[in-house]
Amino acid sequence: MSEKIISTKSEKLTAVKGMNDVLPPQSAAVEWLEGKVRSLMARYAYRNIRTPIVERTPLFVRGLGEVTDIVEKEMYSFEDRLNGDPLTLRPEATAGVVRAVVEHSMLYDGGKRLYYMGPMFRHERPQRGRYRQFDQIGAEALGFSGAEVDAELILLAVALWKEVGLTDVRLELNSLGQPNERAEHRQALIAHFELHMEVLDEDAKRRLHTNPLRILDTKNPAMQAIVESAPRPLDYLGAASLEHFTTLKSILDANGVAYTVNPRLVRGMDYYNLTVFEFTTDRLGSQGTVCAGGRYDYLVEQLGGKPAPAVGWALGVDRVLELIREQGLGAVESTLDAYAIVSEVTALPLVLQTLQTLRAAGVSVQMHASSGDGMGSMKSQFKRADSSGAHYAIIFGTDEVSQNLVTIKSLRDGGGAQASQSLNEIADWASTLQSRT
Ligand code: ATP
Ligand code: MG
Repeated sequence: MSEKIISTKSEKLTAVKGMNDVLPPQSAAVEWLEGKVRSLMARYAYRNIRTPIVERTPLFVRGLGEVTDIVEKEMYSFEDRLNGDPLTLRPEATAGVVRAVVEHSMLYDGGKRLYYMGPMFRHERPQRGRYRQFDQIGAEALGFSGAEVDAELILLAVALWKEVGLTDVRLELNSLGQPNERAEHRQALIAHFELHMEVLDEDAKRRLHTNPLRILDTKNPAMQAIVESAPRPLDYLGAASLEHFTTLKSILDANGVAYTVNPRLVRGMDYYNLTVFEFTTDRLGSQGTVCAGGRYDYLVEQLGGKPAPAVGWALGVDRVLELIREQGLGAVESTLDAYAIVSEVTALPLVLQTLQTLRAAGVSVQMHASSGDGMGSMKSQFKRADSSGAHYAIIFGTDEVSQNLVTIKSLRDGGGAQASQSLNEIADWASTLQSRT
């Protein structure tokens, strides 16, 4: 092992920069969002797919394009130590999903609607809204060519914003056209930028002849003016591409979805054609894109499958959650029903037995655990019960236990109300709880 790997024994180990721990109670917000997404995906008939976090490097190089930020500088790539295979931590999931769809011939009996959730890895400069490990939730519809599926995916995202209460999210749309139209636009772009060589930065110069569309995606303020005046993909669309775009817009109009056409919108990966879109907000500073996607009708073929159209989007979970917090939403309440207070260590077998019954009946209950010198004072246990957020304290006092009962005390609404409950009928109490919620 190299010296770098062997660390001094007592040295404190920390997480990798840009890769964050998600701790309770914040983790509840992630679960809450994921729950909303699962229920929504079911209603839109999208089914879950789980692909590996590690894929072969050529999948991304071929899939996303060699001259993209991700492939040029953001991938965590390494060699499999045993056989030297070039591997990469997935920077996004579309390529892996397409690989799986092709590998398992999933389109043999028609199109598939899929969704995923999970971590992605990109070696970027860590800052607000930009991490090296971050979660994405994505939806992909493969095998469908019509604009109504582009619309369905956009409506699905809009429904999610509504479901979680977000209002400050704008939709921007554009169409990049088909490969032949893109080729023409590309020639015009190169000609345009060649007239402004002095303004191009290093990245742009390098990409001028390999991938000039990428230049439109620049974040360099000094280049904004020449990007603004550059030829627009929209002006190169033929009749069929225009009709696809018009159909999408008319479905969105009919559904009351507000959008702006942004003729400058291009995406960071090469696989897109026709529709591209982004949901953005002003509330998150410069990392304002919360969800982005588009059509990628040539990726399946490019990754070795039988040609099949496809469209999808991915949203940044970290940014969506920050926006939810920013808008003061999604504060997750404690879901704990009860806290078990125990006066004697000897009662613990009975306590655990009783809690098993309650939990099987759907009650969430936290047990007070002993410390080195016993259960601790009743006063300190009540304090714990209060701060746990539980609705009730279940008191296993010495007297109670000797009579085979517990005292149940309300900790909410001013607290105080209490009643005895026989342990033989503890499940009855559980059912009164369930009927109230
Ligand atoms: P950006 O222009 O912000 O770099 P991108 O074009 O690289 O975004 P996509 O690859 O389309 O983003 O990913 C979809 C979404 O995933 C983004 O809109 C964003 O919400 C989120 N995302 C992308 N990169 C990161 C990151 N490093 N940290 C957190 N979220 C991210
Ligand atoms: Mg990026």
